[in-house]
Amino acid sequence: MEKMQQVVGRARAAFNSGRSRSLEFRTQQLKALERMVQEKEKEILAAIRADLHKSGPNAFSHEILGVLGELALAMEKLPSWAAPQPVKKNLMTMRDEAYILPEPLGVVLVIGAWNYPFVLVMQPLIGAIAAGNAVVVKPSEISENTAQLLADLLPRYLDQELYPVVTGGAAETTALLTQRFDHILYTGNSTVGKIVMAAAAKHLTPVTLELGGKSPCYIDKDCDLAVACRRITWGKYMNCGQTCIAPDYILCDPSIQSKVVENIKATLQEFYGEDVKSSPDYERIVNKRHFRRVLALLEGQKIAYGGQTDEDSCFIAPTILTDVSPESKVMEEEIFGPVLPILPVKSVDEAIEFINGREKPLALYVFSNNKKLIRRVISETSSGGVTANDVLMHYAVVDLPFGGVGNSGMGAYHGKHSFETFSHHRACLIKDLKMEGMNKLRYPPGSQKKVDWAKFFLLKRFNKGWIGVVILALLGIVAAVVAKMVTHQ
Ligand code: NAD
Repeated sequence: MEKMQQVVGRARAAFNSGRSRSLEFRTQQLKALERMVQEKEKEILAAIRADLHKSGPNAFSHEILGVLGELALAMEKLPSWAAPQPVKKNLMTMRDEAYILPEPLGVVLVIGAWNYPFVLVMQPLIGAIAAGNAVVVKPSEISENTAQLLADLLPRYLDQELYPVVTGGAAETTALLTQRFDHILYTGNSTVGKIVMAAAAKHLTPVTLELGGKSPCYIDKDCDLAVACRRITWGKYMNCGQTCIAPDYILCDPSIQSKVVENIKATLQEFYGEDVKSSPDYERIVNKRHFRRVLALLEGQKIAYGGQTDEDSCFIAPTILTDVSPESKVMEEEIFGPVLPILPVKSVDEAIEFINGREKPLALYVFSNNKKLIRRVISETSSGGVTANDVLMHYAVVDLPFGGVGNSGMGAYHGKHSFETFSHHRACLIKDLKMEGMNKLRYPPGSQKKVDWAKFFLLKRFNKGWIGVVILALLGIVAAVVAKMVTHQ
């Protein structure tokens, strides 16, 4: 506990020194992070390989590419993101300065998860640094190699007091959570999400919770199944199914179920060859606990493909389950493994009803040639994000906020949204000490006349281009006259 108090205390003192506020400093730290990623690429890839049995090219594209993109974007856009944003004024505030000023929140805590151990720590860190905060970084202990590497590397490239790394497990995180932070971004499961939120509530600390859940995937009959299944196979079995926005299960008409299975089977062979176990592109379950958890989900299921396992190496082959009952165990919790249940539904109405009968998911997928049907599914359901006719890809559109809703989380980040998440949007109004006459409208004694004038000034809206400007100017003159009149009353 004392150690955590020290770490956070030092970060706060560093924040209070004011040095993280200037844009030059923020840019310099972001540049240092970029240098770290470039210079230590090999070490980063090796740590990810040790944690998740992931090949170099896959680790680069899953974890490093996005970080480099996010860094480049933040460095380029920081001046415009951090600039004061003027807001619309009314007749009463016409002469004033009114603007929103993004300002740093203070000391932020970033808690990462193990499934993408590098990017899930680095992306929030980039946003929090860009927004001018001090950041305490807590990587997941389950991906211990990457956690240790981050603990070694970050202090060598960044300001050591402003951006400390804390390693360890639930005990250390629990101790850390007793400290006061100005924002917490947590990535992980919903159960721990509630613990984080309860701890944050003690200090009235706002939270961003990046949680998970069961992300549905509806395949319409009117669809190019070969293309749809190739895309689904890619997103489902990437990282051995341990992706928060992986399609968790498929909903489709019973008449296309076997074709879906055939297409996914063919794609699996195309991607991983005949012996998936020896494919460099196929990862492993992160540890034995998760291996046994996923294995237990297969009990009593009809395995249409896959099902082979090897506990020693935490290997579970890409698996497809058919005719899965909504009441089965595999439909109760997020699978987070390479197991894909297919549930037959008779229509899109039934699919929508099924989705709406459960917790709001982190992602939703719909495949169809029919854009009207796609729009209907979007408008009649809710989820953190949606991709139609593909999977995962909304994550990669940097202007889209990434986050959940309801049980899949709250708040969002990525790109400018990260900057906003880690900033306070301060409302600023700067007036001068003239035109005191106008203020008489709000000072006692009250009168109906004053109310009428106030209504006239405050409730009028003129948004019609140059005509609006002319009217506003005319009203400005009226305002000046009224100010005089009220003053002399
Ligand atoms: P995890 O086990 O790595 O836990 C995440 C963090 O919580 C770790 O840093 C850990 O130290 C801490 N923690 C664990 N138990 C704790 C406790 N009792 N008290 C305080 N802190 C504790 O990760 P996980 O939860 O297994 O991650 C998988 C889940 O995360 C899945 O549900 C997945 O969908 C979700 N996820 C979401 C996103 C997203 O961006 N929305 C990304 C990745 C994973």
